[in-house]
Amino acid sequence: IDGGVAADIERLEHDFPSFARKYRLIKRIGEGTFSTVYKAEDKLYNYYNNDWKEQIGGAQWTPPPVKRQRNQQPKKQSRYVAIKKIYVTSSPSRIFNELDLLKDLRDCPSVCPLITAFRSTDQVIAVLPYFRHSDFRTYFRDMTIPDIAIYLRSLFTALKSCHKHHILHRDIKPTNFLYDPATQTGVLVDFGLAEREGSESRACLCHEAKEQRRARQYASAYAQTNGQPAAGYPKNDTRPSRRANRAGTRGFRAPEVLFKCTEQTTAIDIWSAGVILLTILSKRFPFFNSADDVEAMIEIATIFGVKKMRAAGLLHGCVFESSIPTVGSQGFTLEKIILWSTCRTDDKPLTSEEKLAVNFLERCMDMDPSRRITAEKALQHDFLQLGMP
Ligand code: ADP
Ligand code: MG
Repeated sequence: IDGGVAADIERLEHDFPSFARKYRLIKRIGEGTFSTVYKAEDKLYNYYNNDWKEQIGGAQWTPPPVKRQRNQQPKKQSRYVAIKKIYVTSSPSRIFNELDLLKDLRDCPSVCPLITAFRSTDQVIAVLPYFRHSDFRTYFRDMTIPDIAIYLRSLFTALKSCHKHHILHRDIKPTNFLYDPATQTGVLVDFGLAEREGSESRACLCHEAKEQRRARQYASAYAQTNGQPAAGYPKNDTRPSRRANRAGTRGFRAPEVLFKCTEQTTAIDIWSAGVILLTILSKRFPFFNSADDVEAMIEIATIFGVKKMRAAGLLHGCVFESSIPTVGSQGFTLEKIILWSTCRTDDKPLTSEEKLAVNFLERCMDMDPSRRITAEKALQHDFLQLGMP
């Protein structure tokens, strides 16, 4: 144990004496913007007479049968937990939100359940079952197409249950989906940015009836081609500037988040899951590498083209224009992007399984959130049947 961690551990055990009786901290396993996570041993865990059931994967866990010799004491088994110490700089409502949502999701397959939480004055720690996993960067390049399907099936299983509870995770990315390639299982963690659908939203154009929207878009496009400001958007706009939840991670934000849609839905998580798939298929991490939202829009526009980007913006009442020479009007197909990224030439086209993966990717990265595939439908897609026993 290095000095820094030892001091951390001492402080934690001092602040939470009751906690120290139950758990023995082993090492620091994660350090994020909002928390530090430690691996710990559950000292009171008794292998033979506990009624605590492992809920990972939704399947109830039963201890394997143990052959015991006469007069032999049962071997002590350890159970490990992850201790998430949430920084005091996080607002109380934010901390409450994370724990509250986890409570709602406690029985969901592929979502890491919350065991318990402790508070001492302004400090809060959450206790979760420890889930063994590997760093995404160590395995994503070696995944076969069925491996990818199995990985995504696990992720989409978690998303389906979150979305069924009308919860947006908002921060889907590899470090928040703990995956163990050896057992091919994964759990979704980190509900620090998650929110209930509709909790903060205000009406956005994208939710207007289709005909109404078409009329508006037409008027706006007509006005633009005539050099006038878009219809319905006065020159001296006195409306307060648009505010929308933009929480999430650079490179994983859906177009509607970038366009500050005020009525975001669970579809934003599907886009982010699509970015993970694009990363794996293109063997490039991070795939998008923008410093800010404007750069992020340019990156997306470079792939999908100005035309689609403009249509995506109009959905939320935004006008997108670009004079950047590398951003073309038509963009490229995701198939082309993947072939280029993996340096494959035309004589080595995609296999039928790879085509299926790309087709699935296109459904996840639909620029229109209302047309994007849902987690439930995704689980029925042919691609996610690959690798099924
Ligand atoms: P943050 O809000 O700081 O990003 P996370 O909940 O994402 O916090 O946890 C940060 C890191 O800690 C994760 O990326 C993972 O490596 C590790 N971690 C979190 N929960 C667990 C767990 N249940 N089992 C094992 N490791 C975990
Ligand atoms: Mg995280």
